[in-house]
Amino acid sequence: MSTKPKAYLVGGGIGSLAAAAFMIRDGGMPGENISILEAMPVLGGSLDGAEVQPGSCRRFARPADGPCR
Ligand SMILES: Cc1cc2nc3c(=O)[nH]c(=O)nc-3n(C[C@H](O)[C@H](O)[C@H](O)COP(=O)(O)OP(=O)(O)OC[C@H]3O[C@@H](n4cnc5c(N)ncnc54)[C@H](O)[C@@H]3O)c2cc1C
Repeated sequence: MSTKPKAYLVGGGIGSLAAAAFMIRDGGMPGENISILEAMPVLGGSLDGAEVQPGSCRRFARPADGPCR
């Protein structure tokens, strides 16, 4: 059995992405030992966004006014 530490983070929101970054930077964990399990097709969680039409940003299924920022 491997003794190399591994991490499995549930959800690809900023919480998991930040945790992974700190584990790499401060914990010295190789990135390939970290798995982020995300149910959606894109990472970012509540901070994801797609410009579905010019000037109209959509986060998950929630429309937001204005372009994606
Ligand atoms: C329109 C909008 C504007 C905002 N503006 C601000 C702001 O100005 N300032 C501020 O501080 N905050 C703001 N927030 C809040 C901020 O975006 C959230 O607090 C933050 O993104 C939450 O990050 P999180 O990683 O904790 O969770 P989330 O971003 O919710 O990510 C959780 C992820 O986990 C996934 N997931 C859940 N369950 C499972 C499962 N069982 N298996 C796999 N994946 C799973 C979800 O699909 C999701 O991608 C805003 C949010 C929205 C929607």
